[in-house]
Amino acid sequence: MSEDKKKFETEAIRTQLERSNFLEHSTPLYLTSSFVFEDAEDMRASFTEEKARNIYSRFSNPNTSEFVEKICKMEGAENGYAFATGMAAVFSTFAALLNSGDHIVSARSVFGSTHTLFTTYFPKWNISTSYFNINEPETIESFITPKTKILYAESPTNPAIDIIDLEYLGAIAKKYNLILIIDNCFATPYLQQPIKFGAHLVIHSATKLIDGQGRVLGGVTVGRADLIRDIYLFSRNTGPALSPFNAWVLSKSLETLSVRVDKHCENALKVAEFLEGHSKINWVKYPFLKSHPQYNVAKKQMKLGGNIVAFEINGGLEAGRKFLNAIKMCSLSANLGDTRSIVTHPASTTHSKLSERDRLEVSITDGLVRVSVGLEHVDDIINDLKQALN
Ligand SMILES: *Cc1c(COP(=O)(O)O)cnc(C)c1O
Repeated sequence: MSEDKKKFETEAIRTQLERSNFLEHSTPLYLTSSFVFEDAEDMRASFTEEKARNIYSRFSNPNTSEFVEKICKMEGAENGYAFATGMAAVFSTFAALLNSGDHIVSARSVFGSTHTLFTTYFPKWNISTSYFNINEPETIESFITPKTKILYAESPTNPAIDIIDLEYLGAIAKKYNLILIIDNCFATPYLQQPIKFGAHLVIHSATKLIDGQGRVLGGVTVGRADLIRDIYLFSRNTGPALSPFNAWVLSKSLETLSVRVDKHCENALKVAEFLEGHSKINWVKYPFLKSHPQYNVAKKQMKLGGNIVAFEINGGLEAGRKFLNAIKMCSLSANLGDTRSIVTHPASTTHSKLSERDRLEVSITDGLVRVSVGLEHVDDIINDLKQALN
């Protein structure tokens, strides 16, 4: 296999199913719930897994398999499983691997629904979580107990765009024999491959930059084969599978991931540079701006800075709301990683239920605005932000 390995862009395009008798060039959509067996022996062997083949689309389907194989190649993973949403991937991954009594050590700033899993649902099954501040990685070891099984983080974080050193996390996971899981959604496999730094599993919400056009939901977990085996068996029996149609859309999307993300990052850097020079902005956070506190770490582990820019408007909550109301072209929407630029104000929306103190623990100040920089012409994006600031 290894001598056949091609470059990232090529694998994204040329990783393809065998052609059917129609010799189609582009992989067709396999909308079928189940697959047929040759005879009783074929059926028996398939169910005992002596034979790798498609049985039922909750287990596998040609379209989901193609999508998973591409992500595995991009992330350098052994195997994977595709889910209906990013949250289905997050939940199923934890649920498959953890037992009652187990403990998670997680970064405090994780995606909102992931945080809700940790605080509201996992305690029902006697699974507890301790949180470290992403800007104090030296405290992580103090949270690890004999019951700790998983170390979990996202980088860059949402919405504050903090960066954590993945190599450092990899070393801690190794020292304490923990499973290191990274939600790599903000970086995409094009910009960052956590497995290189010691991660055992990588999760994506494919809904974001992987689809990249705001059309479908999807998720995927890839990594070490023995862990994926447990996740696969859990999922095959509990039913969070990605639909073949969405898998087909997402697999096509991966063919253009590198060119889209290159352009997203080019636009985002220009937007960040514009904001950094603006008098009404207190600070701007973008991984590839020299002013980012973890600039050197970002440079070490990311190819480019990503498409999300965080900044703080002078004037707090009211200034943030006013700014959103003055936006004309960019969308006010809960998604990110779309071709269309999206502006959000976390303190008054996604994180409004947290106290100000809890918000500050995850670097969300009242004037924080998050821009998911899209693929419109960068001059038009900057002009929209400029007129709204004025
Ligand atoms: C959106 C997102 C998720 C959840 O993905 P869905 O597809 O919306 O379920 C998980 N993690 C991160 C970092 C996200 O941005």
